[in-house]
Amino acid sequence: NNIVAIVGRPNVGKSTFFNRLIQRREAIVDSVSGVTRDRNYGKSEWNGKEFSVIDTGGYIKGSDDIFEGEIRKQVELAIDEADAIVFLVDVEEGITPMDEEVAKLLRKVTKPVLLAVNKVDNAMREKDAIEFYNLGLGEYFTIAGMSGSGTGELLDKLVEVLPELPEIEEEAEALPRFCVVGRPNAGKSSFINALIGEDRYIVTDIAGTTRDAIDTRYNRFGFEFNLVDTAGIRRKAKVKEDLEFYSVMRSIRAIEHSDVCILMIDATRGFESQDQNIFWLAEKNRKGIVILVNKWDLVEKDTMSTKQYEAKIREQIQPFTDVPILFVSALTKQRLLKALETTVHVFESRKQRVPTSKFNDHMLRIIENFPPPAIKGKYVKIKYCMQLPTPVPQFVFFANLPQYVKEPYKRFLENKIRENWDYSGVPIDIYIREK
Ligand code: GDP
Repeated sequence: NNIVAIVGRPNVGKSTFFNRLIQRREAIVDSVSGVTRDRNYGKSEWNGKEFSVIDTGGYIKGSDDIFEGEIRKQVELAIDEADAIVFLVDVEEGITPMDEEVAKLLRKVTKPVLLAVNKVDNAMREKDAIEFYNLGLGEYFTIAGMSGSGTGELLDKLVEVLPELPEIEEEAEALPRFCVVGRPNAGKSSFINALIGEDRYIVTDIAGTTRDAIDTRYNRFGFEFNLVDTAGIRRKAKVKEDLEFYSVMRSIRAIEHSDVCILMIDATRGFESQDQNIFWLAEKNRKGIVILVNKWDLVEKDTMSTKQYEAKIREQIQPFTDVPILFVSALTKQRLLKALETTVHVFESRKQRVPTSKFNDHMLRIIENFPPPAIKGKYVKIKYCMQLPTPVPQFVFFANLPQYVKEPYKRFLENKIRENWDYSGVPIDIYIREK
């Protein structure tokens, strides 16, 4: 997917605009997973073209008195990582010094930049908007994020200027694609170095920007796979700050581009909200996930056992807890092969196709013994179920009254599927449909 970043100073209406873009799709996704999480990243679609949207402001807390430097970094990162940028300004406030700063950065960018003047909800303000020509970004769009007026024209233009994505070659397509994601200093590059045995990942500050996640093909220990090289690993020297925004932003493209994401955490720091957000990013994209607790060599074994540590992580990743968690050390190379094996295994599990008759027989027997609860005296009957022929595991259950099958029962079905088939590390979707 193309990535679109929304930038602008605080309070110009970025999150309202963001919500408007993702609303329709999120509603669908939420009804599937039953959970709503990261509110700063979502998928959108316009005129049949899909793209991911990031609200850069959403990652910064207390955004009212935010430093100018902060905004600057935010915009620079958006410029690095996104394919197109929507710069939001506020007609009520007019051009502020911060807007000028942002515009200065954006004028140098070769990627598409769309200037959107927000809060234009009457003819008077249409006139006021003219001053924004002074930002030197050319044509602007007037919108009213609240009512949605004007967003259609903006989106028409946006999908028009989004770059065409390169086709992935068929052969490369067939190989598993893995990425290693996590906070700065979790040990991602050390892990990759140890695994690959080359020093190509040694951090260098590569000048310029690389738009695409780059696949590198490897054949190690009998496994053939593509490792998605993330900008975050290669260019970490540029941004040292351990801010949530950076690691999340830098993970998005790699995650979207992969089949299985290796989420690396630093054992000495624990599983924190930033790790959680990267985890959700992978889950939301329905990617396979393996969690590696790195630097295990540094943990005093009598203070914390792997079991306790594992339990703590599983608590943080509810409800999708069926995920492999391994304790490794990139330094001593402990369990690195196991980590690779597990990742390959998750890839295979994600691809498996359960034969319809087997699935149907097994699940219907369970459903017969534990049917969905009757609602208002009405009985729900599930008569048939199967795995859909989709690239990501999806299961459909046909029922007479699908709307009466609620989230807890869907979870129950999911658990039963997981008990019988190995979907460890693989998000699955359950649909209930009318036959
Ligand atoms: P990245 O930012 O996630 O790529 O992290 P790096 O691979 O650059 O590692 C950050 C620091 O942690 C470096 O100083 C590494 O030497 C150190 N480190 C990485 N893995 C381990 C490990 O398993 N054990 C110990 N003790 N240190 C590690």
